Amino acid sequence: SDAYCWICHCDGSGVCCELCPRLYHIKCLPQNPSSESWVCLECQKIIMAETLETRPLAMQSISVDTLCILLKYVLQRMKLPETKPFHQPVDCGAVPSYTDYVFHPMDFATIDKNIKKKFYGSPEAFVADFKWILHNCVVFNGKNHSLTTVAKTIVKMCCHEVNELLICPDCYLNSCIKDSDDWFCEPCRIPHTLVWAKMKGYPYWPAKVLREDNNGQVDVRFFGEHDRAWVPLNQVFLLSINPPSLVPKKTKGYDEAKVELIRHVQLLRFVFLFIHHYC
Ligand SMILES: [Zn+2]
Ligand SMILES: [Zn+2]
Ligand SMILES: [Zn+2]
Repeated sequence: SDAYCWICHCDGSGVCCELCPRLYHIKCLPQNPSSESWVCLECQKIIMAETLETRPLAMQSISVDTLCILLKYVLQRMKLPETKPFHQPVDCGAVPSYTDYVFHPMDFATIDKNIKKKFYGSPEAFVADFKWILHNCVVFNGKNHSLTTVAKTIVKMCCHEVNELLICPDCYLNSCIKDSDDWFCEPCRIPHTLVWAKMKGYPYWPAKVLREDNNGQVDVRFFGEHDRAWVPLNQVFLLSINPPSLVPKKTKGYDEAKVELIRHVQLLRFVFLFIHHYC
């Protein structure tokens, strides 16, 4: 197993996970391991995400092939000039001591290969490999190294992208591909609630609901420009023929949004009537 603790990245003896090479100091764990055959929190998260009964709703209708396509897009979005130091494996010929410290090397190219091999059964398993990049970086370079700052950003970026993917895999994929201007009109497998949502300085505008938080805010994406925003619940109304207040002066943007909304509703009718008819 690894010689460095997964939580604090320092060495010293600890407990090993039954399923992975991660090591944990007892003092770094929130609870003492319950038994000899202990499965670490990181592995527990992955198991939950890959078990039929406990995996997130968004993932239930996704095939492994689709997941691979999605993860390829996530990786592509993260391949920025600033993440470049982690794109390729560390050259152990140039840094012979590397493997003395790093038990499980990880980098973007290896993750890319893993995606191709259909190694990831969930977005969580994919995120876990980016955490290895950070862990290895802290172990080898130290907590305050500039590369560690980059590695931390990488993990944050990855968590953000995966979170977006889990909100709606169809929206995520469509917004990455954007192979037609029509992508926003295509219904998602789990259709979004349609609403009128009002932002300060704007009229009520048609939008799709992506999620709600616990503080009375609704995350919406607007028809037309496809902007995202958190809108207070009391400014959000279920879609009706006319908006909750006076129709604004006609603007080009508003008319375009309405055209897109109508097209979306037509496609929704088509897709979901079709499904009802045959199932
Ligand atoms: Zn520790
Ligand atoms: Zn584990
Ligand atoms: Zn969607």
